[in-house]
Amino acid sequence: MAAPVTLTFLGGLGEIGRNCAALECEGRIVLLDCGQLFPDDLPGVDAVLPDFSWLLERADRIEACLVTHAHEDHIGGLPYLLRHVEMPIYGSAFTLGMVAGKLEFAGLPRPELVTLADHDRRRIGPFDCEFLPVTHSTPQGLMTIFGTPQGRILHSSDFKLDPTPVDGRVTDLPRLRQLSGDPGIRLLLADSTNADSAGSSSSESAIGPVLEQVFAEHEGRRIVVGAFSSHVHRIQQVAAAAAGTGRTLVVLGPSMVRNVTLARELGLLRIDDRMLATADDLEGLEPARTCVVCTGSQGEPRAALNQMAQGRHRFLTVGEDDTIVFSSHPIPGNEAAVSRLHNALARRGAKLVHSGQLGVHTTGHGKREELRELHEAADPELFIPVHGEYAHLVAHHELALERGMAPDRVLRCTDGDQVRLTDDGLELAGRVSDEYVMVDERGRPVGEDLVEERRSLSGEGFVLVRVVVDLGRGRLAEPPLVESRGWVDASERDRWGADVAGAVREAVEAALAEGVHDAEELTRRTRRATGKLVSSGTGRRPALVPVVEVRGRPGGNRDAVGNRGDRRSGKAGEAGKSGNARRRKGR
Ligand SMILES: [Zn+2]
Ligand SMILES: [Zn+2]
Repeated sequence: MAAPVTLTFLGGLGEIGRNCAALECEGRIVLLDCGQLFPDDLPGVDAVLPDFSWLLERADRIEACLVTHAHEDHIGGLPYLLRHVEMPIYGSAFTLGMVAGKLEFAGLPRPELVTLADHDRRRIGPFDCEFLPVTHSTPQGLMTIFGTPQGRILHSSDFKLDPTPVDGRVTDLPRLRQLSGDPGIRLLLADSTNADSAGSSSSESAIGPVLEQVFAEHEGRRIVVGAFSSHVHRIQQVAAAAAGTGRTLVVLGPSMVRNVTLARELGLLRIDDRMLATADDLEGLEPARTCVVCTGSQGEPRAALNQMAQGRHRFLTVGEDDTIVFSSHPIPGNEAAVSRLHNALARRGAKLVHSGQLGVHTTGHGKREELRELHEAADPELFIPVHGEYAHLVAHHELALERGMAPDRVLRCTDGDQVRLTDDGLELAGRVSDEYVMVDERGRPVGEDLVEERRSLSGEGFVLVRVVVDLGRGRLAEPPLVESRGWVDASERDRWGADVAGAVREAVEAALAEGVHDAEELTRRTRRATGKLVSSGTGRRPALVPVVEVRGRPGGNRDAVGNRGDRRSGKAGEAGKSGNARRRKGR
């Protein structure tokens, strides 16, 4: 019996984002990618991570992390994990350059970085690895073949089959065909992102001529192109179109500037120094001879395009003489933000060109026919679809069956699944947490209760009632004070505030008459009276914040202060229960 290999999927199987898997053999672990997910509707949450707790319990057994390419859904979790785990990182030069930049930005020390070149072979932990080039929407992506006691495990990484990529670096199917012979590939893990899209993706190099056409048609106008800052080949084509029409290229946005610099240093991006300018030069440039390439095409609020749309960009004011090209496609979940951005720019008089009108964008993920070709080249014994929303995983599963794989050779896994590869095949071996771990801008955990509370506050507002009771005199020491935000229209705030104050006074006086002297009970009565009036009067459910202060003692007039501020939201606005930083999936 050869030693089994266990795979633990910590993220990426059931969503596009937070890709992370652990491969384990003879007690040693190699981590494959460590990504994050961009939250779409979580107030105050900057990133969603895999739950690393299973990994952290085994931190001393982690040999290394291998990162397949430079996208955030593959490297974005590293700054968080590296706070707790010391390990070398393996990846291509561009990927590691991006990782180093992220760690520096986070103020973390740089771990050992081991640069991989196409076709390299390395022993990493218990595995003999071989790295093959894949074409994707960021340079130097790597497919990995893990040589294990259970045979070869092939991880496709994010890939497409583009016969004419901008850098000429094609996905190495010929090598896969070689490896598919005896003893062959035991297990395939492959990108499912476009498994439900028919046909094949169009080539990245088809975008260049379309951009050139757009540039020609918009002669005499300034052109602003929004693109992903990691999409070096797209930036290359924008630069070519700019050069071809005699325009100076201005690179805007910190991440765009950083990545362009890195890619030029590595020789991955060729732009003549003489045609490059910075934000500071914008003012002196003739708009008709300027092309700006910037971030924010996904509607990100802080990025350059949105700043322009809001008229708040420091260096550039968008107007009727501008053409804005969206050289990207909205990522699922970003559609609304992108459409708001389109409208805001259109209101400023700018002309818009986007992928819905013209071929100014193509995907970096292979569609169905490309996936079929990968399966045929690798001809694996076993298959697990990875990297996709649930529907994508299902579509990829079906594709494998369609190709003739026996149903018992395909295993559909989701986040948290552990599978074991043994001489007998693949089996489910257990479950680990698949919870969403939410963190804020500074990497601090954000609890689910906090997020729910913010949601409730943003939708319903809050009502605060302060009551001071004089127990010695058996009455209120002062009229109840009512403050509210986001509950009713400002013009009605005073009227409703007076009504709440009246209802609370009545309830508290009744309680005192009954002999209730306990601050906690008086708080409960205040909350109840407020809630009743608020919901019957306005039909809304704002968070209730009763604050009751008790002075004196029943029957006496000596001052003793029993102060209690109850800051929990009331039943109406009450949200989370447990205070952890996790969140069930399937939002
Ligand atoms: Zn990717
Ligand atoms: Zn990805």
